[in-house]
Amino acid sequence: MDQLIEQIVQQVLKELGTTAHQAEQGLFNDIETAIIQAEIAQKKVARLSMAAREQIIQNIRTATLDNAALLAEMAVNETGMGNVAHKIAKHELLAAKTPGTEDISTQAFSGDHGLTLIEQGPFGVIGAITPCTNPSETILCNTIGMLAAGNTVVFNPHPAAVNTSNYAVQLINKASYDAGGPENIAVSTLKPTQETGNTLFKHDMIKLLAVTGGPGVVTSALQSGKRAIGAGAGNPPVLVDETADIKAAAKHIVSGASFDNNLPCISEKKVVVVNKVADELVYYMKEAGAYLVSAQEAQQLAQTVIETVQGKPRLNRACVGKSAQELLKKINIDSDAKLIIFESDEHHILIKEELMMPILGIVRVQHIDEAISTAVRLEQGNRHSAHMHSKNIDNLTRFGQEADTAIFVKNAPSYAAIGFGGEGFCTFTIASRTGEGLTSSRTFTKSRRCVLGDNFCIR
Ligand code: NAD
Repeated sequence: MDQLIEQIVQQVLKELGTTAHQAEQGLFNDIETAIIQAEIAQKKVARLSMAAREQIIQNIRTATLDNAALLAEMAVNETGMGNVAHKIAKHELLAAKTPGTEDISTQAFSGDHGLTLIEQGPFGVIGAITPCTNPSETILCNTIGMLAAGNTVVFNPHPAAVNTSNYAVQLINKASYDAGGPENIAVSTLKPTQETGNTLFKHDMIKLLAVTGGPGVVTSALQSGKRAIGAGAGNPPVLVDETADIKAAAKHIVSGASFDNNLPCISEKKVVVVNKVADELVYYMKEAGAYLVSAQEAQQLAQTVIETVQGKPRLNRACVGKSAQELLKKINIDSDAKLIIFESDEHHILIKEELMMPILGIVRVQHIDEAISTAVRLEQGNRHSAHMHSKNIDNLTRFGQEADTAIFVKNAPSYAAIGFGGEGFCTFTIASRTGEGLTSSRTFTKSRRCVLGDNFCIR
């Protein structure tokens, strides 16, 4: 049967004019062919030993490290967003700290009636949508976890980052080939569109969706009728109370909010600070590399970075992921600052929107109660990430509970959440909407109960 499918596929490939070279590297003109190839590959992956999967994963880690600088430069050139040095760091992080097969464990129960195992198996072929903000990082990190669990994956990469994303797919297939593994463990299309994304949402061979992106695409996936892991938008506030180490808080916030020009969904996107320490915080943020603009300059920035389309505000994509220096130049300020800060109330458009630019609004409040309610409102119900600088355990606990986010970083830069200078594993897919939280290999498994009656209990 498998042989027959393979013959049909080769014929289809021939008719579609997809070259053998592209097929070997996991790239296809047509999403339908990509899905069929991933289905064939999944049958082979499911039969691989865990050691063989781990060898492929090891090769993916090595290829990621070897190509970190190239992928970082490709992404910045192709998307016009982000910072090469920080993107290199993200690739190094994922190579080192994305969990592999060790993340998948078996549960056992034994007793008078025998032995029962709960084992984690693959879903099969996963359909994945990836963002332009962390293009190759998401593809490499997703593949490590999905492959460890025995799946293959069809990517519909963001059209603005198609070359970088597809280069990562090629590296993955070469890593598999070099380890003696199957081809097409991860596949992609050469011309991704919303339509090809929708094909993934509806295709019978796709058993699970993993969607990393803004609210629109996550909602579409959740309406598809398939099981979906929805890693949606973040808009994290960072709260600073009067008990915090203000100098350290300022340094951490500037580092987190300027990292990769504020592209990551977890980055600090607004500050809520208790009035008593607000001046000190601004002072130390400036010392740490932030540039404070006036209310009028903030207004000019807002007119530059936000457009109005059909009466609604929309990010000017030409400004997303640009450096503070470039953004300041647009309002005729010359500075080599890492981050732009300004003060306002919580209703300022630059405070409400998820900007993904190194522009951070600061909202002063009178006390911790007001700080918590303001920060919760500003997170806008995404339940994605919230951060806090404080030494008061009660305040930390209250904000953690009320924010109710997948990520809550305390007294560190936001990126500590994904294991960068913080404990814990790395991921670029944080399933805030659907509740899996920080995804890893085990997220991409399904549970099976395997029961043996009246035997193998040797107690
Ligand atoms: P985006 O939503 O613009 O694009 C993501 C992908 O979805 C693209 O491939 C796009 O073409 C496709 N798409 C959009 N609407 C679609 C639809 N209706 N049907 C099918 N496909 C559709 O996101 P982006 O600009 O690349 O990334 C930024 C957004 O993603 C931010 O909101 C950020 O917070 C979020 N994000 C979340 C995580 C997370 O782990 N939760 C990680 C990275 C980015």
